[in-house]
Amino acid sequence: MSPVIPIHAAGCEEQPVLRERGQREVFCGLTGIIWLHRKIQDAFFLVVGSRTCAHLVQSAAGVMIFAEPRFATAIIDERDLAGLADANDELDRVVTRLLERRPEIKLLFLVGSCPSEVIKLDLSRAAERLTARTRTRVLNYSGSGIETTFTQGEDACLAALVPGLPALPEAEPQRLLVVGTLADVVEDQLARLLGQLGIAQVDFFPPRHADQMPAIGPQTRFLLAQPFLADTARVLEARGAQRLPAPFPLGVEGTTAWLQAAAQAFGVAPDLFEKVTQPARERAQAALARHRPALEGRRLFFFPDSQLELPLARFLSRELGMHLLEVGTPYLHRQHLAEELAMLPPGTLVSEGQDLERQLDRCRAARPDLVVCGLGLANPWRPRAWPPSGPLSWCSPPSKATSRPAIWPSSSAVPCVAA
Ligand code: SF4
Repeated sequence: MSPVIPIHAAGCEEQPVLRERGQREVFCGLTGIIWLHRKIQDAFFLVVGSRTCAHLVQSAAGVMIFAEPRFATAIIDERDLAGLADANDELDRVVTRLLERRPEIKLLFLVGSCPSEVIKLDLSRAAERLTARTRTRVLNYSGSGIETTFTQGEDACLAALVPGLPALPEAEPQRLLVVGTLADVVEDQLARLLGQLGIAQVDFFPPRHADQMPAIGPQTRFLLAQPFLADTARVLEARGAQRLPAPFPLGVEGTTAWLQAAAQAFGVAPDLFEKVTQPARERAQAALARHRPALEGRRLFFFPDSQLELPLARFLSRELGMHLLEVGTPYLHRQHLAEELAMLPPGTLVSEGQDLERQLDRCRAARPDLVVCGLGLANPWRPRAWPPSGPLSWCSPPSKATSRPAIWPSSSAVPCVAA
């Protein structure tokens, strides 16, 4: 097999996108804390929010009561809004007590939310003040449901880190930066693979520890491992780093083309690329072949949730033969997703944003066999009768955000969209 993936512009690159700006049914960006706190092992995420935010993060992360989690919620309530308490003093008191009790915390994120009490607080000034006062690095970003959807919390978190990254001197050789949270096992696998290709100068962002932040500069070439990192890419480019255009590492095709982008930028010989990647490609193709009979020809409808929808749709369509009815995404970054759009079957309906009732009507009329959506939609509907046109499954691929970027699809990756 040739490792070169032809990307034909005949896909959906030029096709109009259905833009909807109505009622949305998506999770907020606080949910990113669930995988971010596992990745950066000496960071702590303090949500400045309401009891609703506390319930969301606590139940989504499912932490046991006796665990020492690396996230918490400082609850700002109506008492503070009424001016009876100074919310800034209260926040300082909570942070000081936390850092005294947990001296291993090296990086503290104040995570903003959407209650009006919180919007009134200037969290960037609070972060500066607390950094000076506590000698722990304190940063802030917003996970508010008004500003962010599900996966955008990660984007906001990483973008907040970029200004503080050390500078990579221009005299240094070119370095590769893989941007986006990857499960440790995937990161190790990828580092090994890149090493075999002769690309040893690799950093991962975010890193596993706060003191391992990568240096950035004009010699940085970065690959996005996730499609929802538009702000992070923008601030990295403002520091001189250059993005390597590629599809996203989902499926055999996407992963091969993604690695190929790095290989081309670092001058890896085509025969070495072929030799190193062939065994993994063959394993992945064999794993996918087992699922193809169950999925081929099935009609698939995506509601917008995570921004992973386009790569996932491209993978399910091209490698498993599924038929795409609609591919909804909360936000479409045309530049970052150009390769994905080009690989979708011509005529695929791509929608951006949401007008929930209209989209539900389209979905009912299309009579899909499989619907991919977030749990916010899936749970209330589970007991309802759906047109009995075939097997119907609900799932939430973003909940796999830490394991999803299985660089080569494994047999365990596919049932998450076909259970
Ligand atoms: Fe908190 Fe707003 Fe998210 Fe609800 S939508 S959990 S109030 S940040």
